[in-house]
Amino acid sequence: MNFHTIIEPFRIKSVEAVKFTTRDERERALKVARYNVFLLRGEDVLIDLLTDSGTGAMSAAQWGAMMQGDETYAGSRSFYRFQSVIQDLTGFKHIIPTHQGRAAERILFHTVLKPWDIVPSNTHFDTTRANIEVEDAEAVDLVIPEGKVPSLIHPFKGNVDVARLEKLLKEKGDHVPLVMVTVTNNSGGGQPVSLTNLKAVREVCHRYGKPLFLDACRFAENAWFIKTREEGQSHRTPKEIAQEMFSLADGCTMSAKKDGLANIGGFLAMNDDTWAQNARNLLILTEGFTTYGGLAGYDLEAVAQGLVEVVEESYLHYRIRSTAYFAEKLISGGVPIIQPPGGHAVYIDARAMLPHVPPLQYPGIAVVNQLYVEAGIRGVEIGTVMFGMHPDGTETPGAMDLVRLAIPRRVYTQSHIDYAAEGVLEVFRSREKLRGYRITKAPKVLRHFTAEFEPLG
Ligand SMILES: *Cc1c(COP(=O)(O)O)cnc(C)c1O
Repeated sequence: MNFHTIIEPFRIKSVEAVKFTTRDERERALKVARYNVFLLRGEDVLIDLLTDSGTGAMSAAQWGAMMQGDETYAGSRSFYRFQSVIQDLTGFKHIIPTHQGRAAERILFHTVLKPWDIVPSNTHFDTTRANIEVEDAEAVDLVIPEGKVPSLIHPFKGNVDVARLEKLLKEKGDHVPLVMVTVTNNSGGGQPVSLTNLKAVREVCHRYGKPLFLDACRFAENAWFIKTREEGQSHRTPKEIAQEMFSLADGCTMSAKKDGLANIGGFLAMNDDTWAQNARNLLILTEGFTTYGGLAGYDLEAVAQGLVEVVEESYLHYRIRSTAYFAEKLISGGVPIIQPPGGHAVYIDARAMLPHVPPLQYPGIAVVNQLYVEAGIRGVEIGTVMFGMHPDGTETPGAMDLVRLAIPRRVYTQSHIDYAAEGVLEVFRSREKLRGYRITKAPKVLRHFTAEFEPLG
């Protein structure tokens, strides 16, 4: 019998109650939060799809490993386990633990970039871009054109535009110390990069003598997309595919809060001895000694075990399928979303959903807030509030106005997802009644986290 139902590949032995609220209570809570869901208390959220970062459930094996954590300051057993799991997966020579992904980025970029340098990628994640720009260098996004059209279906919308990369290296190669590729492409909708594309990027980098680094936060989800979508890959294990992805690169940055299945942690890994030496020197200054990098011994254990579990086929099958299942429910109800859905989230096209709300009245915020009031679900605007404000104080519409519903790993069951889909469909049905917002107060940078809003009449 070929069963049709794909079940969660775990059973639950520890539960956390969620708090139910009334619509009135949510309206009040949102008003107190100045109509910014980042300012809500987590308790007042029923299903929290704000982010998939550090919000996953750990396994019994991870909790068990944590009890074995060795808190020795230098050379702890937990570090050697962490190192050996990551070396087995990536093949990189130097494994440098950090407290999360952005710390790995900061250490890498602060030690290798000079002012005026350029770092190309498919699409830089916001912390990656910020850590490049803070060194007075430039972060350039070179995703294929298909990657920028929400409704267009393409199996690998995260691919790098190799011709544009080559042109950049030909014209300005002297200013490019390394090339990055983000797998999956988070800022581009969690879209994967194919093995063929990675090989082509590798080949161009090789010809121009440039090291290639992966932003590997969702390497396992990317490997699963390669297995299921790329020709000739279906017989391989996700781990074998991941190993090949890493073998094409010279190093990586990693947030273990994503595909490390941990609540905190990350690492920087590479082959180059000199770069690694410089990175370790800075690590000691800002993160901690080279065998713990700002993490407790038990965190190193949780990440090491998480990296073993994340490439298991039953896990990845369920993970990617449950995101697709959520997306299918929204598509069949007519909700405009980025297609095909990515690995870790579903992205609603709020600009298409609310054509009567101009981008500078923040259609993404209107959808996010209504979703909270209607169903107690928290998503996040990825649009004009996040990207529309420029250093000179002017404001323009973001490239897109999206609402991301990110799915924490191993946290919600199918009925939670069914409920979330019902909530989105209810908001979609009442879309003509939704109104935009005005910002009443906001900081100059990264305003989306703390901006205050007022609904327009
Ligand atoms: C989350 C993320 C980062 C940063 O990692 P943190 O652990 O949040 O610091 C970098 N790149 C990508 C693609 C990410 O998703």
